[in-house]
Amino acid sequence: MPLAPLPDEDVEFALARRRWCTPVVAELTLEVIEQRIDFDAGQYVLLQDTGRAVSMQSYSVANAPREDGTLTFLVTAVPGGPTSTWLTKGAQPGDRVLVSGPYGSFVADPAHHGPTLYLVGGSGLAPAKALVEAAVARGETAHPDAGSRHTLLFSGRTPEHLIDHETFTALAAQQPGFDYVRTLTRVDGSDVEPPRGRIPEVLPSLLPDLSEHAVYIAGAPGLVDASTKAAQQLGARAGRVHTEEFYAQPTPWSSGSGT
Ligand SMILES: Cc1cc2nc3c(=O)[nH]c(=O)nc-3n(C[C@H](O)[C@H](O)[C@H](O)COP(=O)(O)OP(=O)(O)OC[C@H]3O[C@@H](n4cnc5c(N)ncnc54)[C@H](O)[C@@H]3O)c2cc1C
Repeated sequence: MPLAPLPDEDVEFALARRRWCTPVVAELTLEVIEQRIDFDAGQYVLLQDTGRAVSMQSYSVANAPREDGTLTFLVTAVPGGPTSTWLTKGAQPGDRVLVSGPYGSFVADPAHHGPTLYLVGGSGLAPAKALVEAAVARGETAHPDAGSRHTLLFSGRTPEHLIDHETFTALAAQQPGFDYVRTLTRVDGSDVEPPRGRIPEVLPSLLPDLSEHAVYIAGAPGLVDASTKAAQQLGARAGRVHTEEFYAQPTPWSSGSGT
């Protein structure tokens, strides 16, 4: 098995572009200045400004490794969050960004030869997008083989919260071994095409038997927790469920917890 890439620290990249994908998620493209970062699809890096005015935070690389070393990210603008606000609103094209990494084990398992399922919401799409891109590049989605399909289930609140919907729809049309399904959680009315509802509600009718699947789940803690339970109830084996939780849920203050 090839060795995982070793992390580098504080490598300077240049912000090339920023594009809003949804009202709250921006895609950032960072270009190599001198040194590149080697990583495996699905891993994350730490980002910070060169003046270290904001704290270093983790972001999953949203692309598979590229020839030119470009890194893309899907960053949720967290209200009052210093680093995400800097990345989504403060930093300007041409600005330098410090990149450290790679880190993490949310990567393809070379020993797995069965189907693969990605369960993601919001910017949790980032590592799944990288893993899908790598699977397509390896030719794994070129054949309509039920035993090795890749399925991406994206959960968004409303149609405007979908990220790269047209791109994934087109990819599914081109790649016979890739399926893309979106579910919407905050829409009412039958004029919205199904599926509607959260991942645990939608999954049983989409894929009722996950006993042969590798399952990759990424995003907010609530989504990761609920999707993990749902996958296990459908037979996903513990060793084949990979999770990437993006942040710790703040503990609600209660009168019982104070002094
Ligand atoms: C392994 C890993 C990979 C990650 N990858 C990504 C990624 O690809 N894209 C991305 O946007 N974020 C990602 N994150 C989250 C990211 O590291 C930061 O936590 C986030 O950007 C907030 O940082 P901040 O400095 O802006 O705000 P902070 O001051 O650190 O956070 C403020 C509060 O907001 C909450 N919060 C943090 N992130 C979110 C969020 N996304 N949505 C809603 N509330 C949030 C937390 O409860 C926190 O207490 C990842 C985290 C980890 C651990």
